[in-house]
Amino acid sequence: MSLKTVKNLNIPDLSHNGLINNLKQIVFQLDSNGNFIFLNDTWKTITGLPIAKTINRPWLSFIYEHDRPKVEILLHQISCNKEKVNEHFKCRLYIENKRLINVEVFLTPLIDIKDTKGFIGTFYDITEHKKTELQLEIQKIALESVDKSIVITDPNAVIEWVSPAYLQLTGFNLEETLGKTFKDLVYSGRQDNTFYVELWQTISANKVWEGDLVNKKKNGALYDEHMTITPITDTSGQIKHYIAIKEDISQRKASKKEIEELAFYDPLTKLPNRRLFLEQLKHVVLTNHREQSYGALLFVNIDNFKTLNDTHGHSNGDLYLTEIASQISNSIRSTDTVARLGGDEFVVMLEQLGHNSQKAISEASNIGEKILALLNQEYCFNHIKYRGSSSIGICMFMDQYNNAEDILKRADTAMYEAKNAGRNTLRFFDPVMQNTLEQRIQLEKELGIAQEKQEFKLYYQLIINNEQKIVGAEALLRWQHPKQGVLEPNEFLSLIENNGMIIPIGDWIIKEGLEQLHRWQQSETLKAMTLSINISAIQFQKENFVSKLKTLINDLNINCNNLFLELTESSLIYDIENTTNKIDELKSMGIRFSIDDFGTGFSSLSYLKSFKLAQLKIDRLFVRDILTDQDDLTLVKTIIDMGRNLGLDIVAEGVENKQQLQILQTAGCIKYQGYWINKPMSEDKIHALIKSKETPIH
Ligand code: C2E
Ligand code: CA
Ligand code: CA
Repeated sequence: MSLKTVKNLNIPDLSHNGLINNLKQIVFQLDSNGNFIFLNDTWKTITGLPIAKTINRPWLSFIYEHDRPKVEILLHQISCNKEKVNEHFKCRLYIENKRLINVEVFLTPLIDIKDTKGFIGTFYDITEHKKTELQLEIQKIALESVDKSIVITDPNAVIEWVSPAYLQLTGFNLEETLGKTFKDLVYSGRQDNTFYVELWQTISANKVWEGDLVNKKKNGALYDEHMTITPITDTSGQIKHYIAIKEDISQRKASKKEIEELAFYDPLTKLPNRRLFLEQLKHVVLTNHREQSYGALLFVNIDNFKTLNDTHGHSNGDLYLTEIASQISNSIRSTDTVARLGGDEFVVMLEQLGHNSQKAISEASNIGEKILALLNQEYCFNHIKYRGSSSIGICMFMDQYNNAEDILKRADTAMYEAKNAGRNTLRFFDPVMQNTLEQRIQLEKELGIAQEKQEFKLYYQLIINNEQKIVGAEALLRWQHPKQGVLEPNEFLSLIENNGMIIPIGDWIIKEGLEQLHRWQQSETLKAMTLSINISAIQFQKENFVSKLKTLINDLNINCNNLFLELTESSLIYDIENTTNKIDELKSMGIRFSIDDFGTGFSSLSYLKSFKLAQLKIDRLFVRDILTDQDDLTLVKTIIDMGRNLGLDIVAEGVENKQQLQILQTAGCIKYQGYWINKPMSEDKIHALIKSKETPIH
């Protein structure tokens, strides 16, 4: 037995008292320095620490550091205050493995006449009691806040208790909730793994975690939640519970969004406001610069909006603005942006218009025209019929300006130009661009009457064979412009293809060409001449193309064996069945087909095969450099070989000198066309040329 006799002290010897070892509480005695000099057996039972190793050690070293100051003060007080016979307090005591227990301490000083000789006391283990206290504490917090969503979990996040408000928020009932974790119930998948890892790192380190997350209700609806998780530890510092206080902040978030919307969107039209728009513009300026693609900013101002407001009132003015805002939004591509800068000012930003300035300008002006037309319609709102108009300023951008504000200013300036020009019109900021646009518009106007005024002509370019004999000619369109002289197709062809004028003009070309062929067929010397007519894809795709052609051929009694129709690959790739039928029908009449500009388009062998065309024309782009560019020569040779294998007649375009002709001839080419033979020329001139050359030419 480990009872120790305390020597040198005139105090009772407790070791003889057998009862003392059976007490529930630890009984101890301290010397005047606070070292243990006696401990009953209960010490070992409760703390697990051997008595022999505890004796003579300072009792304070067994008291939890945080509690020591308090204990020392108390001890001092008892020692000094002679009247105070004992003291009673609670503290935490280290037991084996550095664990802590809660004890209630009763301490009595052992005093002789003058001095305190030591203390006698008991430790009473109140840990269990403390636990119950904790439970009570938790329940108290929970009960105090039943209107809040509170969840208490065990250390593994298994739910032990929830407040009614939490059930109401999530829609789960108590049975569904208890024993589950948040992951089982409200996990939305909206937070990534790192979010939960950080959360757990915080709370398992006994720290409070606070943050926002998205969770899911029982009915699947997502909601925003603000959550605070507080770890609850026992006296030994071990986490026993987590208390999560949750708040549904969906409402708060919604109002925040509303505030943001107020900051970035126009409340009337719901379009982005100036601030947001400038941000977007900055971004687009960078992308367009990087991708070397044009963008356009259209500054749209409603003409005379003030008058509408003054005569019909502001609320009707607002109705009008709302209506046109949605009209403009609906008229543009989803990738483009409309914003309202304020009052009667709107902006439209067009992105990715490509690197071809002509095309980009043309597209921007088309959209501008569309908006002008939209805003020039009659609108009915609130029993008012109103036809307004607008003025639009356009600033194109790619490399020129890298400042969004500058672009906006320029478009604004151009808008004033449009106002000055009489409203209901558009202007480009850049005078060169404005000029290009004006020329195009002017040209389009003039083209509208060119046919009537018989300004179109067909020119002819000869085609020769390997014996340098003239075998035929290609008809090429020219426009005898009243001021600009003879214009070539590249100046107006895409325009008439875009506005549909290619159909009547194309009809005229065919008629004119066939009449020419007819005249040749009437002439003894020229009756073997073939004529090649270029057919635009749009023209060829027209339903009645074949019937119109047939009628003309019959009317003129043409021998179709001398007629070539030149198609580009783009004519062949759409509606293959229909195209095949048309080609087959015309072929059955003796007409032959040429594939034009071979090598520049899709250049698919399978087309050549499946359509069984008669002739292949090597584009002059490849012929141009055959003397200097080995790759081009190889390519031309390959095209020739391939064409010959398919039994095709092969014409090289753009032959400009004898060397080119020779090298093409060596490569196996069959026919030639180009400036070396003749530049395209009028009927009279071509006849004179043919006459002078007789056969063979050169
Ligand atoms: P294309 O069918 O490839 O016509 C050949 C073009 O090359 C012609 O240009 C001709 O003037 C030019 N050319 C001929 N030999 C040489 C040469 O040795 N060197 C150079 N640098 N150029 C040469 P053009 O007449 O300006 O016609 C351009 C294109 O317009 C034609 O290319 C054709 O695609 C189209 N086109 C011309 N006439 C008509 C037509 O009546 N109807 C349709 N739909 N398109 C036409
Ligand atoms: Ca051609
Ligand atoms: Ca060609």
